[in-house]
Amino acid sequence: MTDDATGTGGWRNGVEPVWCPGCGHYAVLKALEEALTRAGDRPESVCWVSGIGCACRLPCFLRGYAFHGIHGRALPVATGIRLSNPALRVIATMGDGDALSIGAGHFPHACRRNPGVVALVLDNGVFGMTKGQPSPTAPRGAVSKATPGGVPEAPLDPVALALASGATFAGRASAAHGVEMAGLLDAALAHRGLAVVHVLSPCPAFGRGLSFASLRQAVRPLDASGGPPGRAQAFAAALERDPVRVGLFWREARPTMEEAVAAHSRAGSPAPWEAMQDRFA
Ligand code: SF4
Repeated sequence: MTDDATGTGGWRNGVEPVWCPGCGHYAVLKALEEALTRAGDRPESVCWVSGIGCACRLPCFLRGYAFHGIHGRALPVATGIRLSNPALRVIATMGDGDALSIGAGHFPHACRRNPGVVALVLDNGVFGMTKGQPSPTAPRGAVSKATPGGVPEAPLDPVALALASGATFAGRASAAHGVEMAGLLDAALAHRGLAVVHVLSPCPAFGRGLSFASLRQAVRPLDASGGPPGRAQAFAAALERDPVRVGLFWREARPTMEEAVAAHSRAGSPAPWEAMQDRFA
């Protein structure tokens, strides 16, 4: 566990963030600190898990247990940690490339399995750490050094993908709206099961088009204060682009993966790998 080098009893560990000036991830860091404090969490009860990329540096600046893994693998590691110790608060921090390109094979399965993990997707549409190649969320036509003629494909939407994959909690926030982001994080921390929080977070170094100013213009809260009435409506709202909607799109109660595995064990059912061995004996 990293120490409280600040001596304040707070969440920061004294390591100064190395993000570029103006990076949206600073706002996420602040909102997280606020939400965790409001939730009454303590650093010793939290395990941070991350992959690779600028967004995945976030746990380096916070107190708590931490696992900084390989690219795209935050969710399976977080799932394993949560299954091993369901008393831990497990928070996975990923970028858009980490979660939806290299980690795309894991994202939908974490959604359907529903482990008690807060899954943050900090989305700027680029691979910032490797100098701005377009990620799977880059809009069609986005120009970069790697795509001088513009990105030809349609982007993935993290909230829509989460909803289509059976996520029990899916929300979107904007780094330009810190109070609302912290409020969404409050709800994510209170959720039982996988809570996907998609944050639009500008990369001023490479993410042309996404900025704090453009976010203030482009996003609007969801209309209904309680969120869309069903998963289908939530899915449609997630794909709106003029304006881009932010807020809590969907939340439902369903047994978590930890509960499902515990019930499976209590029922005396063989573990899946034992059943496999029988089949091939
Ligand atoms: Fe933030 Fe972009 Fe700099 Fe990475 S490269 S720290 S995402 S501004």
